[in-house]
Amino acid sequence: MKITGVKTFLADGGVRPWTFVKVETDDGVVGWGDCTEWDVYRGVTHLVDEFSERVIGKDPMNSEKIWYDLMVDNVRHNGGLAWKAMAGIDNALWDIKGKVLGVPVWQLLGGKLHDELRLYWSHCGTFRNRWAKKLGTPPVQRTGDLKKLSEEVLAKGFTAIKTNLMPLKDLPSPGSVASGRIGGHASPDQIRNAVGLVETFRAALGPDVGIAVDIALRFKLGGAIDIARALEPYNLMWLETETFDPGSLRTVRESTRTRICTGESLYGLDGYRPFLERYAQDVIMPDFAWNGITMGRKICDLAQAYDTFVAPHNCHSPICTLVSANVMATCPNFMILEFDQDDPPWRDDFLTHPFTVKNGYLKVPDRPGLGSDLVERELRKRPWNG
Ligand SMILES: [Mg+2]
Repeated sequence: MKITGVKTFLADGGVRPWTFVKVETDDGVVGWGDCTEWDVYRGVTHLVDEFSERVIGKDPMNSEKIWYDLMVDNVRHNGGLAWKAMAGIDNALWDIKGKVLGVPVWQLLGGKLHDELRLYWSHCGTFRNRWAKKLGTPPVQRTGDLKKLSEEVLAKGFTAIKTNLMPLKDLPSPGSVASGRIGGHASPDQIRNAVGLVETFRAALGPDVGIAVDIALRFKLGGAIDIARALEPYNLMWLETETFDPGSLRTVRESTRTRICTGESLYGLDGYRPFLERYAQDVIMPDFAWNGITMGRKICDLAQAYDTFVAPHNCHSPICTLVSANVMATCPNFMILEFDQDDPPWRDDFLTHPFTVKNGYLKVPDRPGLGSDLVERELRKRPWNG
């Protein structure tokens, strides 16, 4: 069996370009992967095209060898766009492998520990604050809108959410919403914004619903500590803060009662090991659209050795959700899975077999491969136009 073609599709994911990879084989089996990158997405598709020349003619069942061959080719720029492109191909190879053997990918990874996976409603309020019109949702402009949204969260049965600092008419300004690290001090208004949001959600959702806050890479050490301490009274599921310095994150964790989650911008075992060795966080958040199933599963196992929970970064396409579900179904240290409930209404049109979400839980699919193919006609109908 040989790989005969590798194609990419940039489809409209509502607020980001869903980047799909299709791997074709000489016996007609095809596999689908996701390597969505929100910003430099043409760089990723270009690299997939570049790597296609290196994988065409190879046996798609040798996914481990193909991963390491591409890793060696990219050794001087470990991680980043190169790994995203590699991950898209890798996910598609696992899809092919499952289809050829007639089993779900989770079966290839050791079998299921979980039939259902607990989800949290990600970007809760954030997407509606920025893109309500595009997504066809009610807008979020004031804290009262968050209260209404909370009723929807409870009615749909979700047991956890994640939100971000956002501009609301009745709260102090959160400043720039860019997630870069220029600056990094948490201003009094930014802290008031975070407290106002979380206070509103906690009052509306009650004491038992998990609330996570994602501040990404916006704040340096001192800023992250200030926010973590200010949010202590609300018993967060976690504060998600990123840094490339594990010692800094360990200091954040030791400075607050708030649980800390990190990792979406880290790659591979080398990226995670120094954070795990220092127990710098309570929960790690590997991204399988950026580490592939091959490396992603190894990261989860490494976290298991350090007694650390995994809650995958999963804010890309529905293929990424299927990838995450197949890996997480097999992991004893699975905590909870990110899920964008406010995905665009055409999401399921892209899938031949849409997955089932009920009462805030995702049913792990039983079909061979990842669990669904994509409908190319629908992808072409909705290209990403920036
Ligand atoms: Mg994040």
